[in-house]
Amino acid sequence: MILHVDMDAFFASIEQAINPRLKDKPLIVGSRGNKMHTVVCAASYAAKALGIYSGMPSREAFARCPNLEFVEADQSKYIWTSEQIFELLKSFNFPLNYASIDEFQMDLGAHENPVSLGNELRKQIYADFNITASVGIAKNWLLAKLASKLNKPDGLALINDENFEAVLRKTSLDELCGMGGKTGQVFIAQGLKTCWDLYLNLPAFFDNNPSKFDENPGKSSELPKSVSHSYTLPKVQINHQVIQAWIRLLAEMVGTRLRQQNLVSATVHLWLNGPEIGNFGAQKTYPNQATNDGFEIYQRASKVMARLAAKNPRIRAIGVTCSSLSLSVYQPLFSEEIRREGLIKALDRINNRFGEGSIYPAITSFTR
Ligand SMILES: [Mg+2]
Repeated sequence: MILHVDMDAFFASIEQAINPRLKDKPLIVGSRGNKMHTVVCAASYAAKALGIYSGMPSREAFARCPNLEFVEADQSKYIWTSEQIFELLKSFNFPLNYASIDEFQMDLGAHENPVSLGNELRKQIYADFNITASVGIAKNWLLAKLASKLNKPDGLALINDENFEAVLRKTSLDELCGMGGKTGQVFIAQGLKTCWDLYLNLPAFFDNNPSKFDENPGKSSELPKSVSHSYTLPKVQINHQVIQAWIRLLAEMVGTRLRQQNLVSATVHLWLNGPEIGNFGAQKTYPNQATNDGFEIYQRASKVMARLAAKNPRIRAIGVTCSSLSLSVYQPLFSEEIRREGLIKALDRINNRFGEGSIYPAITSFTR
């Protein structure tokens, strides 16, 4: 069985956990500090209930709800929390993968009571971080991810042989992971509407989804082949700055994981998915300049992105992968904790580097 954990309104929930005054209020997290001139990058559930969603211009959000609470995004907080949750989940001793900054997948094998484990895990996340998670359990990662959405927020759902048909019948095709782009359009053009329609036409789609596990935490003596992070945006995004900001965030996350494992990488691979471009993937190798610096990884990924022929394509999902890994020959100068203490200073430097126009001024590189 695969267990998929999806944090609820992750960025907004973290801000509410840190500042209880914001709890249960309509809140947006803006990609930058000027609250009338930014984009909503996360909305709390109270804000979602008012029709406010990620990707919406903040001005529009305030027009809908003048009393909206506003917080500027602080990526370092979200990365840190994500990594702490990963560490907590690791302690349950099952193979574990990052699916995105706020999603995690566990391979439970033939666990006897996955539902009680899922609830235990949700309880533990809430106890430690004061934020809620939704859990989905099913025979493969595709269905487990789908299950995690069924009782959101703060819920758990299991898809098994008994409810498989009922769940697929009531789930429209575009709610299924991977159906946002060209593939989904092809099926919809063929008249398929629900996941059940897809199952009747292509049952293998739901069977042959092996889990994506490539890391076994038990075998740390072997070097991993790659380290990657990806993210599916809540909506297709055309704003180039927002897309760059997400690439930056994912690059920072990859860099952090490389440093934790004392690895450096010579190859950066960028994967993008969007309605016009379908799946785009390309990489660049720097044979003698292996790195684990998030900002450097970001710059290399940006060079890969420049190869995209389409000008201003709409983007739905982004992935950054570092491969050609080797052990770093340099001892890290500072422990990760000391690096994090330098965050505030790093913030100032980043602000200087990017200037006022920076869409995510709070993105920090822990190595600078
Ligand atoms: Mg989530």
